[in-house]
Amino acid sequence: MSATHTNLYRSTDEDTVSLSIPAVIKLLTSDDMSPTAVVLYVHLLIAAARYGAPVFRLHTMDILAQTGLSRPTFLKARAALQGEYRLIHATETKKQGMWLFELLNVNGDSIPTPDLHVNFATLPAADVVAFYADRLGVSEAPDTTADGFPVFDCPFHVAATPKKQRTLRVTTDGEEHHGRFICNGKKCRRKGGLIDFEMGLAAEQKQPINRREASQRVRAFFIGRRQNEWLGVKPETPHPLLAELTERSDEIPF
Ligand SMILES: [Zn+2]
Repeated sequence: MSATHTNLYRSTDEDTVSLSIPAVIKLLTSDDMSPTAVVLYVHLLIAAARYGAPVFRLHTMDILAQTGLSRPTFLKARAALQGEYRLIHATETKKQGMWLFELLNVNGDSIPTPDLHVNFATLPAADVVAFYADRLGVSEAPDTTADGFPVFDCPFHVAATPKKQRTLRVTTDGEEHHGRFICNGKKCRRKGGLIDFEMGLAAEQKQPINRREASQRVRAFFIGRRQNEWLGVKPETPHPLLAELTERSDEIPF
């Protein structure tokens, strides 16, 4: 099996993205190569890396602000990436100005997504706990139930006391409800699976996403935990070769 990509920046603090070499060559070698299409494509790659998935939504105003492209130039670049190069698929969502983007492979097909590789039913319990902890911004479950299930602060209701906030129980027994959450707060009772949780949190943050996006983000999280690299999620350990070079650098005379 050959490596799908290498990452020269493994041992630095810089954020990185992975990219398809054929896609970039296609962009750069076309007869009427458009620099603005390249700018937009790189911007979309970075967005995909941040979301950890090839499907994500961006507001046109944010793209304009962040890329410095004028609206007409941006519209042309988006149309070229979608029509001429077939490297993206873009559709406007119900919210005006908010677009759903999908990065495609060099043939204009969908990139295989993490959906294909992660089975929620067989996730290790530690991974499930890590997911909820990550999404809730804590390093571990702050409490456990008497029967050993992790308990978190529920993000779906506002309680009068800290104790009443800590009511989100996650099932991790590997059985029917493995990975699902339920809030025991009297007025809340929110419950669901991993994707429901992701969608619920996004809605709470006023940045709603659909099931497909949520599914990809959730699965990208688990893939990332296993591989530490998917669409440029930063690996935690330096590449062995780089580590070796760093050690030797003392010996290199300047
Ligand atoms: Zn709740």
